Amino acid sequence: MEQGSCWIDGRIIPLGEAAVPVTDHGLLYGDGVFEGIRFYNARPFLLKEHLRRLRDSARAIALDLPWEEAELASIVEALIAAHGQPSGYLRLIVTRGSGAMGIDPARCPAPRLIVIATALEIVPAEKRARGIRLVTASVRRLGADGLDPRIKSLNYLNPILARIEATAAGADEALLLNARGRVAEASTENLFIARQGRLLTPPVSEGALDGITRALILQLAEELGIEVAEVPLAPYDLHTADEAFLTGTGAELIPVREIDGRRLAHCPGPLFRRCEAAFRDFIRHQCKEAS
Ligand code: PMP
Repeated sequence: MEQGSCWIDGRIIPLGEAAVPVTDHGLLYGDGVFEGIRFYNARPFLLKEHLRRLRDSARAIALDLPWEEAELASIVEALIAAHGQPSGYLRLIVTRGSGAMGIDPARCPAPRLIVIATALEIVPAEKRARGIRLVTASVRRLGADGLDPRIKSLNYLNPILARIEATAAGADEALLLNARGRVAEASTENLFIARQGRLLTPPVSEGALDGITRALILQLAEELGIEVAEVPLAPYDLHTADEAFLTGTGAELIPVREIDGRRLAHCPGPLFRRCEAAFRDFIRHQCKEAS
């Protein structure tokens, strides 16, 4: 059983004891939204940004959040304190709540909030140091005309199907293309590549989550004087890139060593190293140890 703590229905309890009714529409239909947030030195990292995206995801699915931002922030702080670990991962989940069978959200009188605090290691340290292998999945990222990928919804089957393909191919992570064959993102991370000293990432409109780590890296790279651009990318751009890396809350920054069997020129590359150092500095600055 995973170690951790959970805020549910107004109480903080061990993660192993936390449960939801089977009539919750989050379980029945994937009807709900979530956020993953890291904490360092017992301080939530970029909490405001995550709470804003949670609210936007909820608005996009016409779910009214009855909790104010300050209320959510104090629940997060209380949970981190009760959990007692200096660093880890939080999962904020808002489901449509319990209701009778049938997809109509009107059957659910009140949303349910669940917050989990636990440890998270997406990639073992030695693999992170060497860089990971990506393969392009045959399954395509859903378009905004189906389910807008900017909504961080409780249904992750689209990226899960891609990840299953990557695992079957012996790779570490999957890349998803959009319906036009352009690069969208990895299953649960955004993608950056470096070409001739420039850092490139697809615009969110290509079918990616509006990643909070992605936005931070764009900002930090610019501050470092690195030329950055959000441009549509084809598999060719990836296969011939000088370097590549993934960004995400869970992943942080992970260098990529191979894409579809093509070895990249540098891993970890020079732009990755600079961005990673700036990212660590930023975390240290934002999440200073309480004195
Ligand atoms: N894309 C998807 C589909 C994700 O689930 C995540 C993880 N939240 C990301 C990208 C990275 O986004 P962020 O940096 O906000 O965690």
